[in-house]
Amino acid sequence: MSHEGEGAGACAGAIVPAWRVDVLTLFPGLFEGFLGESILKRAIARNLVEVRRWDLREWAEGRHKQVDDRPFGGGPGMVLMAPPVVSAVEAVRASAPEPGRLVALSPRGRRLDQAKVRELAAEPRLILLCGRYEGFDERIIDELSPELLSIGDYVLSGGEVPAMVVIDSVMRLIPGVLGDEASALDESFGPDGALEYPHYTRPREFRGRAVPEILLGGDHAAIARWRAEHRTFHPAHGG
Ligand code: SAM
Repeated sequence: MSHEGEGAGACAGAIVPAWRVDVLTLFPGLFEGFLGESILKRAIARNLVEVRRWDLREWAEGRHKQVDDRPFGGGPGMVLMAPPVVSAVEAVRASAPEPGRLVALSPRGRRLDQAKVRELAAEPRLILLCGRYEGFDERIIDELSPELLSIGDYVLSGGEVPAMVVIDSVMRLIPGVLGDEASALDESFGPDGALEYPHYTRPREFRGRAVPEILLGGDHAAIARWRAEHRTFHPAHGG
């Protein structure tokens, strides 16, 4: 069975990364740029995170490797078939000693928020199942009992972008991934639900707008107070 692994975990005898994510998708190529740039690229190269992509079509049978079919009862679109998807998840689960937490991306799922991101970051292994077309045959959900996760109340064409949202938000919390650990602690949607304070960098003045004087003085206690005062609350968090 062909699969693709990114991260030194793919090499025999390598140190096991702190966080492994397996993505099951019909379009593994969509992740190319996402995995190959910036913070995630560095995290993979440093063996902090391992991302494996698995092509669901590998588990399809027949000459045409069919993975979807028309819905019983009629209606538009195609539905992802249970046999290849269930076989794929079972095989991927069995490919590592840690069975992993199975998450299916779905608009029907619980909405992702920073509390859920923290919860997922505590898992050593996540298996992300990406839907396509009209979505999953319901027996995939019944058979595998995945956690259904939505990234918002809108419909996308597939679970790949939602999977990238999950990977990106979770990997920021994996120790060592961000250059400065404090930047994740200080960010918006911490336990108190507050949003981050405003940031400024050079130049000191831009089109007549000056940087608040207090940030220039080097008084760390005063700066911390100013920042605490300038954190705001998201309406959804009751602020
Ligand atoms: N027919 C489905 C419905 O009306 O709820 C929408 C299916 S959508 C076109 C195809 C796939 O994209 C879904 O199975 C899911 O994996 C993914 N998807 C779309 N929107 C999503 C969202 N807001 N959150 C998470 N996954 C989503």
